[in-house]
Amino acid sequence: MSRKGNLFILSGPAGAGKGTLRKILFKELPDLVYSVSCTTRQRRPGETEGKDYYFTGKNEFAEMIRENAFLEWAEVHGNYYGTRKSDVETCLDLGRDMVLEIDVQGSRQVKISMPDAVRIFITVSSMDELENRLEDRGTETPDQMLLRLRNAAFEMRYAGECEHTIVNDDVARSSAELINLVMKYRNGKGTL
Ligand code: 5GP
Repeated sequence: MSRKGNLFILSGPAGAGKGTLRKILFKELPDLVYSVSCTTRQRRPGETEGKDYYFTGKNEFAEMIRENAFLEWAEVHGNYYGTRKSDVETCLDLGRDMVLEIDVQGSRQVKISMPDAVRIFITVSSMDELENRLEDRGTETPDQMLLRLRNAAFEMRYAGECEHTIVNDDVARSSAELINLVMKYRNGKGTL
């Protein structure tokens, strides 16, 4: 079935600045809809239930997998994350444009079931830069950071599969690039 709204998927390694760019994008284009994922990860200070994530118990998450409630789900850095199918379908059917911020495994799954989805890979120019940013962010324990850096090396290889890549070495430039890209698709001028 063809849907009326555009679906944008932001992916990329932890620390590349997906969250920062996404927030700037939503300030500029507030009628976009953010897909709030379910996760079994612990809530971080400052995160809000239903706004950042739906914080879900492992049993509840497993039940949702069994019920086929997810458009995609994946284990990322030792926790489970998933996008609720009904949220995405309702939004796109209403003609609203939606943004998913999900990992590489999830992005691949969505592209298979929704080939019109536009994948935008957000990355940085080097692994050193990624490490510095994760250290500055300070939200991960040393073990969690190591895991995220290991996964980053694998995730970086996904860039070539995506429709677009943004190298986020400068937030002002990269956010402008992202906004322009989204606007192009909204105006029917983007190409897959
Ligand atoms: P964090 O725990 O830092 O919020 O997110 C960790 C990773 O999980 C990020 O790469 C984020 O994009 C990804 N993620 C968040 N929600 C989802 C989701 O619904 N599905 C998948 N596959 N990945 C997600």
